[in-house]
Amino acid sequence: MTTLKGKGVYGAIALGRISVFARKEASVKRTHVNDTEAEKARLAAAKEKATEQLQEIYNKALKEVGEANAQIFEIHMMMIEDEDYNDSISSIIETQSVNAEYAVAVTADNFAAMFAAMDDAYMQARSADVKDISNRIISCLSEENNESTATGEKVIICADDLAPSETVLLDKEKVLAFVTAFGSSNSHTAILARNMNIPAIIGVGEELLNSVRNGDFAAVDGYTGEIFVYPDEETKSRLEGKRAEDEEKKRLLQELKGKENITLDGTRVNIYANIGSVDNIGAVLANDAGGIGLFRSEFLYLESSDYPSEEQQFAAYKRVLESMAGKKVVIRTLDIGADKQVDYFNLAKEDNPALGYRAIRICLTRPEIFKTQLRALYRASAYGNLGIMFPMITSVCEVQQALDLCEQVKKELKADGIEYSDKVEIGIMIETPAAAIISDRLAPMVDFFSVGTNDLTQYTLACDRQNAAIEQFVDTHHEAILRLIEMSAKNAHAHGAWIGICGELAADTGLTESFLRMGIDELSVSPSFVLKVRDAVRRCDLSK
Ligand code: PEP
Ligand code: MG
Repeated sequence: MTTLKGKGVYGAIALGRISVFARKEASVKRTHVNDTEAEKARLAAAKEKATEQLQEIYNKALKEVGEANAQIFEIHMMMIEDEDYNDSISSIIETQSVNAEYAVAVTADNFAAMFAAMDDAYMQARSADVKDISNRIISCLSEENNESTATGEKVIICADDLAPSETVLLDKEKVLAFVTAFGSSNSHTAILARNMNIPAIIGVGEELLNSVRNGDFAAVDGYTGEIFVYPDEETKSRLEGKRAEDEEKKRLLQELKGKENITLDGTRVNIYANIGSVDNIGAVLANDAGGIGLFRSEFLYLESSDYPSEEQQFAAYKRVLESMAGKKVVIRTLDIGADKQVDYFNLAKEDNPALGYRAIRICLTRPEIFKTQLRALYRASAYGNLGIMFPMITSVCEVQQALDLCEQVKKELKADGIEYSDKVEIGIMIETPAAAIISDRLAPMVDFFSVGTNDLTQYTLACDRQNAAIEQFVDTHHEAILRLIEMSAKNAHAHGAWIGICGELAADTGLTESFLRMGIDELSVSPSFVLKVRDAVRRCDLSK
């Protein structure tokens, strides 16, 4: 048995035969050409073909791994059109009277070396991209496409590294796992792999390709990052056991798709999903969530280098609402500050940022930012079933101010003849003890509450959620927290509002029954926990 170790990118187990990823390197020969114009025409045709292929890959990636991860192929398409890159190729063809393949290969080497020598890690990573697009063009020039990967039986793919386009084109049905000698956990390949849910290990080092051959039997532990080539019996059966456990858990949960979130005694609850990006919708749908209970809209701001415009926000909200096809989508208004810092907001450094200028406090004091978001939200409301939720509420006055701004925005939209839904529900997060304690006064003002247990825990127990050193003092099941949730639930229901939980505690199945007994109407969890919570709900018997 040979044991190799890298870094697990996606935790799962695979046992099977190895297929060493043979990249058909287009062998490039330097040949003399008489007609350089004809050579440039060949190049133009090959570039067009390469762009068509990339567009196809982009479309496939968009469906499978979302917009953010697919973007790299858009970048590749842009790189193909890059002026410097093209000037270099043309000039080599013209000045040396050589074939296009050779000109592309030389340009690729030069540009790759230039990127690799840059200080910026992002630019260094472009070195692989320029080689990737150049190989594609060369391949199109020689009419050889080298996109096929594994064929036949399912295999563990071992490679020196995989270009993003190679990764996304892997036929997942035929791949058990992939293992690479190089690559970093932030490379596009690693990110794509994670999103494609393929057990994967990267960065094993050069010894990988010296230690494995086609057809070798191996076991891959994506949790520990270990690869065992010809594992001994003990290792093999240990990993088989681990894999069986994983599969059993997954299988059982898959059976719950399409089933109701109902307890043994007939109590129903909504199980929704939390998302931070439009790209997460695929996971929401794949895990059969009944809606979105928390869209952390601040990620639109965090991903951006400047304030996202009304149009940009509208497009994102509309897409989420349309994708959810009439299911409830609760979008939380901007919650930055504290641990979520955005440079262009120029927020002052604070001694206690968690107790500082954040979330609704920023929105109410910078209404131009808040109103842009509210306009985008109301405009998007015409495309689905929207709930708007305000974070970090501590007082009646804050809720009133936020509601007044909503009314103002609606009036302005009406005056401009812009459509919006009049069925938008308004809710607040219960994530400060103050909000829970005055929930009897807040409930009549809104349609729903959503308990943010992450912050509610930090503020109730006086435990900074960022401080790992005090973890032993963070009792997430603390009676004080549970009492505040229960109190909020009673007050919500007394005033006809519904109540959900969207903090991490919603996925804590040790509390599912308690939450249901409190009358919680909705639990909103990470997409991958939806079925686990459904399972817990279906095991509860509140009649006992
Ligand atoms: C919470 O505080 O529980 C919550 C859901 O919000 P965030 O984690 O984004 O602060
Ligand atoms: Mg919070």
